[in-house]
Amino acid sequence: MGLSENIAIVQEKIACAAEKAGRSAEDITLIAVSKTVDAEMVKAAYDYGLRSFGENRVQEFLRKKEILPEDIQWNLIGQLQTNKVKYIIDNGVALLHSLDRPALASELQKECIKKDASIDVLVEVNFAKEESKSGLYPEEVDSFLEQLADCRRIHLSGFMTVAPYTDDRVYLRKLFAQARALYDKKKKEFPEIRYLSMGMSNDYEDAILEGSNMVRVGTAIFGHRIYQ
Ligand SMILES: *Cc1c(COP(=O)(O)O)cnc(C)c1O
Repeated sequence: MGLSENIAIVQEKIACAAEKAGRSAEDITLIAVSKTVDAEMVKAAYDYGLRSFGENRVQEFLRKKEILPEDIQWNLIGQLQTNKVKYIIDNGVALLHSLDRPALASELQKECIKKDASIDVLVEVNFAKEESKSGLYPEEVDSFLEQLADCRRIHLSGFMTVAPYTDDRVYLRKLFAQARALYDKKKKEFPEIRYLSMGMSNDYEDAILEGSNMVRVGTAIFGHRIYQ
C-alpha cells in the first residue's frame, strides 16, 4: 500500500469516527508521526496535504526542520530530557505533548525566560499506570497544574496520553473516557485548554469516539518503522 492510500484511509477513518461521535472531521487534528521516517517521505506526505508532524527525538526534529517546508507544524511527542530543552525553546516547536514531570517544567520555564519566549504544552498523563511509560499518574495532575500556574511562560494547551498496546477495546475506551473526563474538568478552570491528544495507529478510532481531538498516527501512514 502506498503513502497516498494510507493517508486517505486514515483520513476516512477519522471522518467516520468523528461522525459517529457527533463531531466533524475538521475538529480533529491528524499528526503524522514521522519519527525514523526520512525527510523525502515526510515531504511526500506534506505534498499529499499533511501539515502536522510528530517527532520524538530532538536531534532528528532539528535536522528535518532545517530541510522541510516552513509551514509544517512540528509536534514533539517523546520524553524530553532536561538537557535538550535549550534546543527546542524558540526554535519551531508548535506543541510539546510530553510535559511529564516537575523538573522538566522548571527547565522549560527557565529557558523561556532566558530567551524571552514561551511554549505551548500538553501535560502527559499515564492513565493505565504502566511503569514502562512516562506521564503523571492521574492523582498527581492537580498538584502539578498548581506548580505550572507559577510558570507563566508555559502555556497549558491540554493533555496527552499513550494507551497500552492491546486489542481490548473496552479497556481502551475506558482509559480514553478517563482522559476525556479530566480534559473536560480542567477546561473549565483553564480556558486555554483545547487539545486532547490521544489515539495512535492501533486505537485512534476508539480515542476519537471518546473525545480525542488530536491523533498521533505513525505506522498506519508510513508503515512499520525500521528501527526504533
Ligand atoms: C511512536 C508514537 C506514536 C505513533 O505510533 P504508531 O503506533 O506508529 O501510530 C504516537 N505517539 C507517541 C507518543 C509515539 O511515541
